[in-house]
Amino acid sequence: MKRIAIIGGGISGLSAAYEIEKKRQSGTPVEYILFESSPRLGGVLVTDRVDGCLIEAGPDSFLTEKPWAADLCRKIGLGDQLIGSNDADRKTYIVAKNKLVVMPDGLMFMVPTKIMPTVFSPLFSLRTKIRMAAEWFHPPHKASEDETVAEMVKRHYGSEMVDLLADPLLSGVYGGEASQLSVRAVLPRFADMESKHGSLGRAMLAARKKMGTAAHVPARPLFTSLKEGMQQMVDALVARLDANALKTSSPVLSVIPQDNGWTVCAKYKTDHFDAVIIATPTHAAAALLETADEKLSRDLSEIQYSSSVTVTLGYDEKVRGSLPPGFGFLVPRSAGRRMLAATFVHNKFPHRAPENRAIVRCFLGGARDEQILQSSENEILQIVRDELRQIVGNALDAEPLFARVYKWKSAMAQYSVGHLERLQRIESLRQKLAGLALAGNGYSGIGVPDCVRSGAEAAGKILADMGMWSAA
Ligand SMILES: Cc1cc2nc3c(=O)[nH]c(=O)nc-3n(C[C@H](O)[C@H](O)[C@H](O)COP(=O)(O)OP(=O)(O)OC[C@H]3O[C@@H](n4cnc5c(N)ncnc54)[C@H](O)[C@@H]3O)c2cc1C
Repeated sequence: MKRIAIIGGGISGLSAAYEIEKKRQSGTPVEYILFESSPRLGGVLVTDRVDGCLIEAGPDSFLTEKPWAADLCRKIGLGDQLIGSNDADRKTYIVAKNKLVVMPDGLMFMVPTKIMPTVFSPLFSLRTKIRMAAEWFHPPHKASEDETVAEMVKRHYGSEMVDLLADPLLSGVYGGEASQLSVRAVLPRFADMESKHGSLGRAMLAARKKMGTAAHVPARPLFTSLKEGMQQMVDALVARLDANALKTSSPVLSVIPQDNGWTVCAKYKTDHFDAVIIATPTHAAAALLETADEKLSRDLSEIQYSSSVTVTLGYDEKVRGSLPPGFGFLVPRSAGRRMLAATFVHNKFPHRAPENRAIVRCFLGGARDEQILQSSENEILQIVRDELRQIVGNALDAEPLFARVYKWKSAMAQYSVGHLERLQRIESLRQKLAGLALAGNGYSGIGVPDCVRSGAEAAGKILADMGMWSAA
């Protein structure tokens, strides 16, 4: 019987466990123990219910275009629980000059693909609009080295675009800044489009045209989630795993290669395994591997993480009636606020709030405001309520019916310039340590679907090394 230790019970570790459990149930001589330091499984996937409203403490959905999370949901019996965002009401605002200005139609991520809505948008200055027109003629360019997203966007559209769109969009996904994040790691499609087409606008249109002619399928919603919230995925996964194999409140302190396998020291116990999957944030993986390989540990520790805070406020139907339509707003750095973004949950996923309730979910923290973690919940609520009032207007003067604050310390990986080269070094060092696999959001994708994929791939690698893998 081969034994595998999985360290970390977030979605990455649970996905790895699910792959091994399938093998175990099909009679393959393999077993696993999953160690999770906290008392619950799921990591940052947490769903609460308050006053008839469904509240997400961490992720609220995932990108539909990345298939791995939805595929996993189907495999674990949640196919009929998948829901799409209410894209008929999709509209996002940017805070500019203290007002909510709607993002013009035709923006794909931050690339304008429709002329008229951009020309008439009050969001951009004349200078930026001229840059956008000139971008159409941008010559193909293959950067010899990695660069920041800010550098690339500035080259195409100027610095206003970095402030108004690139920075807020990236802080929504990574809690990071365009001036730090690597184009090659975060927006590889952009680097590719630039080298082939030059103009990002022309490249986007060409890609859309190709998709339109290749598939006559109805447009899919941008985001996918679950009827009962993201926690539903965790609960369904846990229900399919071997209950005896799940060890919560069991922080692992070290993993050491020994006797053709790995010695895992967790809480009060030391155990021996044939292989280990570390599915924690990379800063935790670095600490675990300090004795096993100093160099690997150093490279892992150099991947930076930012922290984030989500605040959910519930209001009555009067407030709901006076809030703007759409999914919510992004706050550029130039607006001088601490809030990074807010979602009008009752519009994005209407069934998550009864008709007489409004839910506003706000994001703070990120790479430029780590200090927010030191503030008390009351201080954070005060900041959010003041800023919402200033941004959205008097509608949000009202006392919320409920409020919840969730703090996530060092939870969002930052793929800074040079990330891909660092990953190559990590991979070649990992390969020298037989029976070790790494998974999680610090490597090749921060979103839930990428984490699901990374967990499954880590399990696949270990099973293949043991001669137990065949793609079923
Ligand atoms: C506020 C927020 C909003 C987000 N929104 C979205 C979104 O809308 N869509 C999307 O796709 N993605 C979103 N993400 C990103 C995505 O949710 C995460 O990247 C992903 O869930 C990470 O999963 P994970 O299992 O790799 O890590 P985690 O969820 O961090 O789990 C790692 C686990 O390892 C455990 N652990 C750490 N050290 C040890 C140890 N020594 N021993 C044992 N256990 C240990 C931790 O306790 C934790 O449970 C969001 C993230 C945050 C924080």
